[in-house]
Amino acid sequence: MMHWPGDPPVKITRVLDIGHGDSHNLSQLTMGSHSGTHLDAPLHFIQGALSVDRMPLDAVIGPARVLEIEDKESVKPQELGHYHIGRGERILLKTLNSSRVWRLPAFTEDFVFITKEAAEMLAELKPALVGIDYLSVGGYRRGGSEVHRALLGNGIWILEGLDLSPVEPGDYDLICLPLRIENGDGAPARAVLRKVMK
Ligand SMILES: [Zn+2]
Repeated sequence: MMHWPGDPPVKITRVLDIGHGDSHNLSQLTMGSHSGTHLDAPLHFIQGALSVDRMPLDAVIGPARVLEIEDKESVKPQELGHYHIGRGERILLKTLNSSRVWRLPAFTEDFVFITKEAAEMLAELKPALVGIDYLSVGGYRRGGSEVHRALLGNGIWILEGLDLSPVEPGDYDLICLPLRIENGDGAPARAVLRKVMK
């Protein structure tokens, strides 16, 4: 499974196997806490800040908006400004990443990311959650730390590694529960969108 360069790889080993005469199947999992779809807790970038086990469930369960970002390089304030993001909203950014990066066999460095300026704008708007469709909200070579700090330092939880390729932009209910890892800086999560019936 593809992962952020330098992070521990995902390894799943069947240590007990009915096929080999054991009474049951059981696996050992080894992975970084930011593998696949995962939540970033403020503690990821800010020492002493909230850990994933202290996340308010409101951050990841409830109405969410999927916004389509057309800019091929990055999420910029101008495009984000069209959407009038409000305080406490759950915002998922569908970029060109969704149709491209998950189909590639290796990690991609030139994924669409949130610029420092757009992160500062979000820090003022204060949505409850910002999600993006690759492994980081910040760029690979620039702005990674600043973007994380701008969001996590302003009470915005981050959901990374989303695959929004089958999802149309619009209104949904988000159901997403990261593993409740004690003092965790982040945790893998299953994220599900349910269409809002009108
Ligand atoms: Zn992360």
